[in-house]
Amino acid sequence: VTLLGIETSCDETSASVVRREADGRGTILSNVVFSQIEDHAIYGGVVPEIAARAHVEALDGLVRAALGESGRNWVDLDGIAVTAGPGLIGGLLVGVMTAKAIAAARGLPLLPVNHLEGHALTATLTDGTAFPYLLLLVSGGHTQLVAVEGVGRYRRLGTTIDDALGEAFDKTAKMLGLPYPGGPNVEKTALAGDPTRFPLPRPLKGQPGCNFSLSGLKTAVRLAAEDAAPLTERDVSDLCASFQAAVAEVVEDRSRRALALMREEIGAPTALVVAGGVAANKAIRARLETLCNGMGLAFVAPPMALCTDNAAMIAWAGALRLAEGLSPDPELPARPRWPLDESAEPMHGSGR
Ligand code: ATP
Ligand code: MG
Ligand code: FE
Repeated sequence: VTLLGIETSCDETSASVVRREADGRGTILSNVVFSQIEDHAIYGGVVPEIAARAHVEALDGLVRAALGESGRNWVDLDGIAVTAGPGLIGGLLVGVMTAKAIAAARGLPLLPVNHLEGHALTATLTDGTAFPYLLLLVSGGHTQLVAVEGVGRYRRLGTTIDDALGEAFDKTAKMLGLPYPGGPNVEKTALAGDPTRFPLPRPLKGQPGCNFSLSGLKTAVRLAAEDAAPLTERDVSDLCASFQAAVAEVVEDRSRRALALMREEIGAPTALVVAGGVAANKAIRARLETLCNGMGLAFVAPPMALCTDNAAMIAWAGALRLAEGLSPDPELPARPRWPLDESAEPMHGSGR
């Protein structure tokens, strides 16, 4: 089957055409992404109203470009997959309305996809990763450890009880006077820094469960920065390096616990898969790779362009849903909140 995918849930507008063969392998025929990062940079974060307008302006052209690049025509499509949530309502509405219009005009099935499901299933497209596996999704809006057992079968093992991981990077950057988006700039600045100079906390490390907490760490960075003020370039580098080291240690600890929990309650994972913008961070990756190597477990990091928001992952999730006859109600409205495991099959002993 060949699907058109549309993604407009946050600050990337994207359209993609993906093909899934009968043997289960997938090919990305096109994946056009327009990042609004420059529209939002001067505000230091994503402004919902600006995002929605930018999606309206960009989407039609991107859909045409995606189809053109794919070498396919409207008649070659078997369905339209669109991110229906979670995300910013303005952007979601733009994508859902456009997808509904195309589906109606072309008589194609409409497949609303949970944005997180797109991230969760990407590894099956890029690496052919087999179920079940553990997904660590770390972006500006999400911090989740999810056991992925199959299409439509997700169990969230851990999440953040306050800030998202990417948000913590962005706020730390802001406090230290580094430009938005913070993550890449903190990483770059940390390269020259001493990760042991500031003894920052490792929130929840060693504690039961697989949740994250990042607001305390953020506060600790602020206090350390105030103590050391006025900050020299050296101080900023050392703070970035110390922050990043603390985060990487916590991510490793939480992932190790989630892998153990998964092995006990669900079955041995085939891999640890990372997704989301923060997955670009080399210090975090290195820690996770070492963790996996020590356990003889595969570490899967899809190409960055497919780790951050894109429509290929949405088209792919739609194709898998279509293949499994799992498509939800095509009348499904845009849903700003939509937990990934809400529609999960009841788990044995999960109390759900
Ligand atoms: P959503 O959360 O809805 O998926 P998003 O736009 O917040 O959307 P992404 O685009 O996947 O998420 O990722 C952006 C986030 O990733 C930002 O918070 C950014 O600071 C962070 N990030 C990007 N590169 C790095 C890096 N090298 N190190 C740490 N964080 C990074
Ligand atoms: Mg983004
Ligand atoms: Fe995302």
